[in-house]
Amino acid sequence: MALNRLAREFAAEINYHDWSDAPFRLDRAGHQRDHDGHRATPQQLTGSETDNVRTNVMWVAAQVLGHLDPNFDVFEFAEWCGVDTRTSAGRPRSGHIPTGLRMNPETGAVDRPGDPQVWDEEPAPTVEPAAADRRPDQVGTPEQRARQWPADPNTRGFVTARSRNVHRTTECVKYAHTVNVARQRGRTVHSPVWTTTGAARANDKGMCSHCWTS
Ligand SMILES: [Zn+2]
Repeated sequence: MALNRLAREFAAEINYHDWSDAPFRLDRAGHQRDHDGHRATPQQLTGSETDNVRTNVMWVAAQVLGHLDPNFDVFEFAEWCGVDTRTSAGRPRSGHIPTGLRMNPETGAVDRPGDPQVWDEEPAPTVEPAAADRRPDQVGTPEQRARQWPADPNTRGFVTARSRNVHRTTECVKYAHTVNVARQRGRTVHSPVWTTTGAARANDKGMCSHCWTS
């Protein structure tokens, strides 16, 4: 499925922009650090920090584009943005790419852009809440999401493509248990994707009860 024109043009801009010094300067779209010469900022992000910025920018645009177009392919879009969509082991189409999109639990489609709290203020939600929690398994349950979050949203933690919860450490017994069960059942074991508790929360993950309670 080819990307539509709007998606191609967003991707082209995101790919063309040099994100490696983005926090340290205000410059136009399509900024290229190579052109700055002696005016280049002394500070520069590392390669992985730069990749994170680009990936986050890609996700923000993809949330809107995916909501607009039911045929939107986030992997194709990410690749056009210059985002590496492989797993850490080099396999194609890593599950963490679609995990960056907020999905509507009722319809399975890319969810409406913006703050859901704001939608609550708007009229005419027509869908009755489901009696059972039918949200996909990469999303925390209401109880998991209601747990006490660290005060600092930049607290480091990890998720996986299919995990409901953010964990603090790979030593976590609950995480180890799910890995063991997945292996026993011959399921894919998704590798940890390090993130922050704030980002995990924004992606509707819950809190691991083992990792974060003393
Ligand atoms: Zn845990």
